[in-house]
Amino acid sequence: MTELQAREPLIFELSKPGRQAGTQFPPPVDGSAQIPAHLRRATPPALPEVSELQTVRHFTRLSQMNFSIDTHFYPLGSCTMKYNPKACNSFAMLPEFLGRHPLGPEPQGFLACMYELQEMLQEITGMQSVSLTPMAGAQGEFAGVAMIRAYHRARNDLGRTEIIVPQAAHGTNPATAAMCGCTVKEIPCDVDGNVDIDALKAAVSPATAAIMLTNPSTLGVFERKITEVARIVHEAGGLLYYDGANLNAILGKVRPGDMGFDVIHMNLHKTFSTPHGGGGPGSGAVGVGARLRPFLPIPIVGKDGARYRWLTERDLPQTIGRLSGFMGNAGVNLRAYVYMRLLGRDGMVRVAEFAALNANYLMKRLQAAGFEAAYPSRRASHEFIITLKRENRMYQVTAMDVAKRLLDYGFHAPTTYFPLLVPECLLIEPTETEAKEDLDRFCDAMIAIRREMEQDPEKLSSAPHTMPVRRLDDVRAAKQLDLAWKPAA
Ligand SMILES: *Cc1c(COP(=O)(O)O)cnc(C)c1O
Repeated sequence: MTELQAREPLIFELSKPGRQAGTQFPPPVDGSAQIPAHLRRATPPALPEVSELQTVRHFTRLSQMNFSIDTHFYPLGSCTMKYNPKACNSFAMLPEFLGRHPLGPEPQGFLACMYELQEMLQEITGMQSVSLTPMAGAQGEFAGVAMIRAYHRARNDLGRTEIIVPQAAHGTNPATAAMCGCTVKEIPCDVDGNVDIDALKAAVSPATAAIMLTNPSTLGVFERKITEVARIVHEAGGLLYYDGANLNAILGKVRPGDMGFDVIHMNLHKTFSTPHGGGGPGSGAVGVGARLRPFLPIPIVGKDGARYRWLTERDLPQTIGRLSGFMGNAGVNLRAYVYMRLLGRDGMVRVAEFAALNANYLMKRLQAAGFEAAYPSRRASHEFIITLKRENRMYQVTAMDVAKRLLDYGFHAPTTYFPLLVPECLLIEPTETEAKEDLDRFCDAMIAIRREMEQDPEKLSSAPHTMPVRRLDDVRAAKQLDLAWKPAA
């Protein structure tokens, strides 16, 4: 299925009995005597025995077979690799932070950082309280909807089990609603990408628990009638949930709290300096207005006089409970804290302005080159959608073909086939930190690919041509993945 080009030997094939790195410092320690005999292996594991250089080259080569933000432009809309400054990483890795034990005395310095992070997140979202404990965007959503359910139950309003979700929503939104035992009611968007107000009016009822949406939406446009949406849902007795996975378009500009939202989750691992992807550590901090405050997941950091301490069940008897060991991913929260302190108030505004400027610049250049924007009447937020439905009709090329061909030109692909309601779409987010020259290089590649569509579409349908692995069978890769190496018999 796959065709390896210029095949390098696998590390196992380089193995020679007894070969090792002689200059390791400190030298490896044999701790096996401390493991009870019955738990020890009878024979050593079949690890490759290789020299230090062979090991270094093996892992370096593997790392270079992938695209990363440190090596390539990575315009993956919605789930972007946004800015991951190295400075934030170094501060979060200070030995005083790393050396803490969560069962030790309440660490005042660390808690002070977390307290201030809670306050900064409150300020930028217009919410009243924040909990940092969820460990992913999806877990933040779970916390949010669990709080909404707890709120209705506490008021003995037991019939509210429906969550309204616009068609444009991220897939995790309806999944979260279902996980929390709610039913999902989907409503359409109008041709400009806004929530269809008539459909919303028809959807709300005494069964409405909440609406989940994001603004700007995953269509890359700002919901113009957001205050009307808020009024309709609130008048029907429901609450408003804001999916704040990607906040870079609005930082310092507008606040979900001011738009009328009651609860928000934020992906600190997208917008605030930790890379998203690969299922790595995340933080899906949740913010709430006054109505939901009693239900926040614990622990949160509180302050008695000058002393910081964990707030627990005793302080918040109606809490939905604990979602993670201790307080979520401390390292991710610390990176977000350092990043926000480095940005300051002015820096936040700059993030939003450059995120929107870069996206709009790229959209205009691609439109001028003949690409079709899905919402041409709208200005882009931090991301925008190109639809290739015309090209699909004319040249039989697909969005996936273009995504794969971009790899040959040295660019990570944009998000493909999401949101689902735009056919053959590429969701493109350049992010706030790309230089104009790099945006131009990406446009030039897209223009070159456009020429290939007309002249040599086979180049696209068989792409990528220059990667270690060619076009994969997605279904087989998902259902019959086999990455285990076995020695030749
Ligand atoms: C990434 C994302 C999520 C989910 O976040 P995870 O950390 O991957 O669980 C939810 N909503 C939107 C809009 C996102 O972009």
